[in-house]
Amino acid sequence: MRLKVILNRIEKHAGFVYTEARWVEAAREAAIEIGIRPRVGGRAMCSGCERRAPGYDLLGERRFEYVPLWGIAVFLVYTMRRVECRRCGVRVEKVPWASGKHQLTSSYLWFLARWARRLSWSEVARIFGTSWGSVFRAVEGAVEWGRAHASYDAIEAIGVDEVQWRRGHKYLTVVYEISGQCRRLLWVGEHREEQTLRGFVAWLGTARAAKIRFACSDMWKPYLNVIAQMIPRAIHVLDRFHIVQTMNKAIDEVRAKEARTLKEAGADPVLTHSRWCLLKRPRNLTDKQENRLQDLLQHNLRTVRAYLLKEDFQFLWGYASVGWAGRFLDAWCTRAMRSRIEPMKKIARSLRTHRTLILNWFRARQLIALGAVEGFNNKLKLTTRRSYGFRVFRVIEIALYHALGNLPEPEGTHRFC
Ligand SMILES: [Zn+2]
Repeated sequence: MRLKVILNRIEKHAGFVYTEARWVEAAREAAIEIGIRPRVGGRAMCSGCERRAPGYDLLGERRFEYVPLWGIAVFLVYTMRRVECRRCGVRVEKVPWASGKHQLTSSYLWFLARWARRLSWSEVARIFGTSWGSVFRAVEGAVEWGRAHASYDAIEAIGVDEVQWRRGHKYLTVVYEISGQCRRLLWVGEHREEQTLRGFVAWLGTARAAKIRFACSDMWKPYLNVIAQMIPRAIHVLDRFHIVQTMNKAIDEVRAKEARTLKEAGADPVLTHSRWCLLKRPRNLTDKQENRLQDLLQHNLRTVRAYLLKEDFQFLWGYASVGWAGRFLDAWCTRAMRSRIEPMKKIARSLRTHRTLILNWFRARQLIALGAVEGFNNKLKLTTRRSYGFRVFRVIEIALYHALGNLPEPEGTHRFC
């Protein structure tokens, strides 16, 4: 069976025929080149308006990289035509196996992009004998196609979050869709200012933003402001996972400070190596950590009192009614304010300020996937960790859409992998 026959089975392009396949001994490594030419009398398509137009002249031969065969690089070789279009003037033709200025055929582009979901980009490049740049361009092409063909019309619930992505306090703002059925990354922006999140609404369009019924975020002020202004009809929910995070940070602060004070006073170092038994939920503790915690609880330390406040706060999430949850929250805040532990008082003040948004959690939890933001957050960290070289915003943006965007792919093409 000849290569031509296989190509005609898996990738036939109307108006074009494959000619001969030949073995090319290049300086670095061998390759297979397969000629392709227009059918006799076939008219070229203008790349400006995608209509047939009369020929103008011929350009040089171009090589389009195709899916490798048995580890050997494969190229389609084609002499590009230019057309004289009535609407667009003299233009280069549009060919069906590649788009725009891409040196990669669309088949190879999707091939690389699919592998880049399973392996790191540098591994994909190494295995298939291509460059990191080609893998990036393939993923970029797949993401652009996917975002152009995905539907963003019926978004009911979003989760907004900030993520640190480079050392030195560089942040990304990410917006997820967290409706019951549809969970995906919708948008990534550089920084975490009001301006950043406004960029999301600008991208989505105000008409679609007006349909959003739930918005979930942390207590970061710029997000609170933009959601209130630009998505005013949405019920705004403060994320449970972020409140727990803030609480843990406060405990950590109290513990570190108290450990220092005790050490300076030359007291028994009960607080050393206690960090994790205070931050983990009791049921997740190892035996050793549990013993350590029991030990600690015998001392009347600020850290212990803060810890007990934190653990007590967990009961909030168990309430079925908004009214009772509200009463519990108020009572908790009063106790925290009386604790004379500044980081806990700070939390209590902030919880009081955002009381409505916290109680909205109870109104929304049956309707949207509130836990999804935390799950996405973990996947996002995996993606950023897996590939170094993601120091440019454009690259991290593309990588995240590719991994978490749940983007569509064209149908009807042969699946190589
Ligand atoms: Zn045209």
